[in-house]
Amino acid sequence: MPEIKLTSFGAAGEVTGSCHLLEIDGYQVLVDCGLFQSGMETYLKNWEDFPFDVKKIKAVILSHAHLDHCGRLPLLLKKGYKGKIYATPATCQLAEIILADNQEILIDKAREHNLPILYSQEDVAKTIKALLPINYHQNFKLNNKLDFTLYNAGHILGAAFIKFNTGGKNIVFSGDLGGQDMPLMKTAETLGQADYLILESTYGNSVHADKKNREKKLLTAVQSITTKAGTLVISVFAMERTQDVLSVLNDYYENHLDFRVPVYLDSPLAAAATKIYKQHSNLLNQTALDKLKYDNDLFNFPHLKVTTNSRESKKINSVPPPKIVLAGSGMAEGGRLIHHLAHYASDPRNYILFMGFQVPGTLGHHITHGAFDFDYYGKKIPLKASVDQIDGFSAHADQNELLAWIKNISNQAKIYLVHSDADNLLAFQKKIAEVLDIKAEIMKNNETVLLN
Ligand SMILES: [Zn+2]
Repeated sequence: MPEIKLTSFGAAGEVTGSCHLLEIDGYQVLVDCGLFQSGMETYLKNWEDFPFDVKKIKAVILSHAHLDHCGRLPLLLKKGYKGKIYATPATCQLAEIILADNQEILIDKAREHNLPILYSQEDVAKTIKALLPINYHQNFKLNNKLDFTLYNAGHILGAAFIKFNTGGKNIVFSGDLGGQDMPLMKTAETLGQADYLILESTYGNSVHADKKNREKKLLTAVQSITTKAGTLVISVFAMERTQDVLSVLNDYYENHLDFRVPVYLDSPLAAAATKIYKQHSNLLNQTALDKLKYDNDLFNFPHLKVTTNSRESKKINSVPPPKIVLAGSGMAEGGRLIHHLAHYASDPRNYILFMGFQVPGTLGHHITHGAFDFDYYGKKIPLKASVDQIDGFSAHADQNELLAWIKNISNQAKIYLVHSDADNLLAFQKKIAEVLDIKAEIMKNNETVLLN
């Protein structure tokens, strides 16, 4: 039996910066290499040296295209990684647009904090070239002791959990897991055999209470601004939340042809991601596939306008209300959303909707947690618009869904928890012990665990 070692260099005891090193008899594979994102102090960790020898890494597997999983890949190549990055075809496509977009944000952040630019567009281009698409269920042999297979994790388009096989033992990295009954994504595939499971725990200590009425909550906000002649600003993540919200609005507009409130998708990144979703519609769930039989585009409907440049974006301000604006970034950490927030937040007729988890330290967290005002380039903007948050569109499985997923492991697995903060991890660890009688371990950054 080979020696199996695991070390986390990010997302252990925290939510962002996913980066885990698996060593099989010294052969090193990195699972994800994401950006640290929660708050400025954490963000600055991206500029620290990797605490491992980049040149010893033989392969990288990318679970999905969220920045906290892929955002430091170009840095890895800049520091000398020469191998391939394996991911599903949809993840490869999404990572390409996400990384290019993020490089520009990183330039701004570097300037703001007097730091060198983390990596260049050339490093991003090298990263894109290193991506090697691997389909779900296609087994890939890394060497004569180690192979892996990607399975649908149901989180965002292309997201995978990774099952490594060495000497008949399975080591599974959950990546990020999606929940059940999502508008577009399938439920994560069953886990099967897992001897060691590295499990994300983002919602390990909570349930999505509003899942059943998430569509209703969204349409209530639409009704509110229609009645009051206000503006609804919806904060969206470019991947998944945008397409989820568009698909709900699509259903509403297609069924209410007399409803004429304009909708602006004001995010070039979200628009580009939506095109990739359309290309991979075969990956969508049965509900979405059924709709596609009579509506050939689930993300396009009457009165939807996609802005293509900043001039068109600015023109939205002069459109008389009621109107709906979808913009990012999802936690109001940048992007066009902050300009819309500054423009619309002080009017009580308006409505601001955040979609899902807001990491502490972000403007989205500040606004959704009872703030009276917020800072916009040194100016205080009073917060008088209605503010709401819908968790039910979260792309993450909640506590019940995580427990249901691990319940289906066909053998007795050892579980290692990652991707949540210390309090949540402890609570989830306790819950797993209560419900499943399994003592899960909590991974710590930079600590190596011998798996066998
Ligand atoms: Zn994710």
